Amino acid sequence: MAKIRLFVQGDLASKNIVELNFQQIHYLRNVMRLNPGDTITVFNGRDGEYHANIQELTKNKGNISISAQIKEQDSCPDVWLLFAPLKRDCIDLIAEKATELGASSLQPVNTRYTITTRVNVDRLTANAIEAAEQCGRLSVPEVKEARALESVIYNWNPARTLYYLDISETAEPIAEAFAKADKNTPSAFVVGPEGGFSEDERVMLAKCAFAKPISLGKRILRAETACFAALACWQSICGDWK
Ligand code: SAM
Repeated sequence: MAKIRLFVQGDLASKNIVELNFQQIHYLRNVMRLNPGDTITVFNGRDGEYHANIQELTKNKGNISISAQIKEQDSCPDVWLLFAPLKRDCIDLIAEKATELGASSLQPVNTRYTITTRVNVDRLTANAIEAAEQCGRLSVPEVKEARALESVIYNWNPARTLYYLDISETAEPIAEAFAKADKNTPSAFVVGPEGGFSEDERVMLAKCAFAKPISLGKRILRAETACFAALACWQSICGDWK
């Protein structure tokens, strides 16, 4: 049977009993057809990964007993993704793929040409949890409430480099920028909406010493493709794809 991994909230230590939520009960009981006594693995973003035995699994109640630890908690590379909200399928894809690609935080940012300002944080978090369970991550990226790009920039900690994905010819090729970057510096990317950044936003970003324009080449990518390409390049040069 395929290994079943669940992200849980409770503390993980041998013999602890952890309650399951209704979605988890439904998944284990009705989708995977598991029963008390069956074994799954669990993680919570703090305590590593453990085997767990299902103790109780009824329609309304489920809990597991934590047994042996399989993995110690590791630290995720410190890379954030900021992106302009997109339509539902694309934004769901961003939550899923950015989680697989190891982003530690997902921040929707409203920009001048953003077409969708409604962001369902709970749905994106559910997508991120599912992706973390599937890909073997020991943590789930935090999905933040959408904020105005200006507000995020004005409150930025300058110790974190902000790479903004820029289609202009003056932007530095991404691999060159990362090759000379200090690999221990916390990093973030901001990707514009379908309509790109406005001239005012470009000027605002260009004035910030912590912000660097980077290019993904001469082809104009869809915003979600740019998110994944930037994260993949960063992981291979600065992150944990070693
Ligand atoms: N016509 C838009 C413009 O003027 O920017 C194109 C926007 S593109 C569909 C969406 C976003 O993806 C851009 O704002 C940029 O952040 C990023 N992007 C797409 N292709 C890129 C490339 N080749 N280099 C750097 N960033 C890119």
